Amino acid sequence: MSYIFGVDVGGTSVKIGLFTGEGELLEKWSIPTNTDNDGVSILPDIAASIEEKITEKGLSYSDILGVGLGLPGPVDEKGVIRRAVNLHWHDTFNVEERLMSCFKEDIRVKAGNDANVAALGEAWMGAGKGYKNIVMVTLGTGIGGGVIINGKMVTGTTGAAGEIGHTYTGTDTEEPCNCGNRGCLEQFASATGIVRLLKKEMEKNPDEKTEMNERPINAKEMWEAVKNKDPLATRVAGQFGQYLGTGLSVVAGVLNPEIIIIGGGVSMSGDVIMPFITENYKKHVFHASADTKFVRATLGNDGGIYGAAALLI
Ligand SMILES: [Zn+2]
Repeated sequence: MSYIFGVDVGGTSVKIGLFTGEGELLEKWSIPTNTDNDGVSILPDIAASIEEKITEKGLSYSDILGVGLGLPGPVDEKGVIRRAVNLHWHDTFNVEERLMSCFKEDIRVKAGNDANVAALGEAWMGAGKGYKNIVMVTLGTGIGGGVIINGKMVTGTTGAAGEIGHTYTGTDTEEPCNCGNRGCLEQFASATGIVRLLKKEMEKNPDEKTEMNERPINAKEMWEAVKNKDPLATRVAGQFGQYLGTGLSVVAGVLNPEIIIIGGGVSMSGDVIMPFITENYKKHVFHASADTKFVRATLGNDGGIYGAAALLI
């Protein structure tokens, strides 16, 4: 029997999954992310938690194919990470070697950017199973993107391939994006982007009757209002779809994927979001990419640990 540990490192918690080599999730748990002192203890904490599980389960190191790591920052093919702001990591270093050195015995470690890794997870065991050319966008607080070509994760030169959220929309914003630029896709089509669009639309139409006057102002509530055919919320959904659908038509113009997977918190609002994206996608995309399939991610919050484990396959 062989085993893999898949680790999804976030700014507040680290999710860890124990998988069989065939991709069956046997157990999952999480530990807090300790970002004190520039996050120096994050990797030793992960190693300690995994070693504890190895002992508890009576596994031998030789049965473990390795540890996969999904990280919130750009990671290149050699395992070098360039800053992960959420983890308070400011340096450029080889995260695979650093984690390996935390274990008592030899163990293989592979690392990737969390959005790229999520795409790999969906390709392995989720909505992308059976497809070779996949684009995935993760719509959360920001927008992450992952690209799989010929079944392989594309990392790019500095680990920044698939950064769809930081492509320019053509619309300048007053406030800068987290990346420092202005007018990035994630400023319009992430959960926070939707709130921005919503507030603007409500300010512009102060007298309009809308469910949003009674609801908390967030993306989830806006999609609930769209389900009820609220006109203002539906207009905002249209703006969201225009930015995201157009952005994805550009991505498809370059990559011509078989399937585009929509994941992240926003995708959990259900199929209501899809027509807004596909309508605008079809309007702008090159004809030979018009039939690209759009689906929602199926692994939910476990996508990160699945993808991290898939790095070892
Ligand atoms: Zn940006």
